[in-house]
Amino acid sequence: MTEALMFDLDNTLYSEKSGMETRVLRAINEFVGAILDLPPDKANRVRREGVRYYGTTLEWLIFEKGFDDSEAYFSYIHPEEEAELLGPDPELKAILDSLPYPKIVLTNSPFEHAQRVLAALGVEDRFQAIYDIRFNGLVGKPHPKSFLRAIEAAGFKVESTVFVDDLPKYILGYQALGGRSILKDEGRRFLDKGFERIESLAELNFLL
Ligand SMILES: [Mg+2]
Repeated sequence: MTEALMFDLDNTLYSEKSGMETRVLRAINEFVGAILDLPPDKANRVRREGVRYYGTTLEWLIFEKGFDDSEAYFSYIHPEEEAELLGPDPELKAILDSLPYPKIVLTNSPFEHAQRVLAALGVEDRFQAIYDIRFNGLVGKPHPKSFLRAIEAAGFKVESTVFVDDLPKYILGYQALGGRSILKDEGRRFLDKGFERIESLAELNFLL
């Protein structure tokens, strides 16, 4: 039985068509390129190869590349004006309000990014709490602890908390704990992978 909802932030609470994540990714590749002394496109290839074994690019940089300035990383990839690509989303607000469960956000981004995004969308008061990458000691999804710490802090239980994310890697991580997860597959990229999936959050009403 569903008693609570745990949402990813980026490309889950807003559309990938916003261009927000594309911009973040460009900044990540610039940052990685500067550290590894590579042009951004080459940095992207190296990063994508390396990050397969980690939850995030930052983790990979820390554990494989000896990087130790996470705050510089966050401020470069999440500049203060970053949420300008997003605007108020009354439909999202209505969808959230139609789901009668307490809700939290679990994100591999820093808190200030999540705050800016939720404020831009106009839904910051619809969530009980935001659990960010610092909360998880910079080791985020799909590590079991990242899910478990957020759920415990929120007073939820894995067996009754449904997790919604746009990345299969994180969906699988929560499933491994015995939790129910739903993939937001806006781009219809994972039709045949056997995930419980939706293309927009409005569909949650039919599944919960
Ligand atoms: Mg996401």
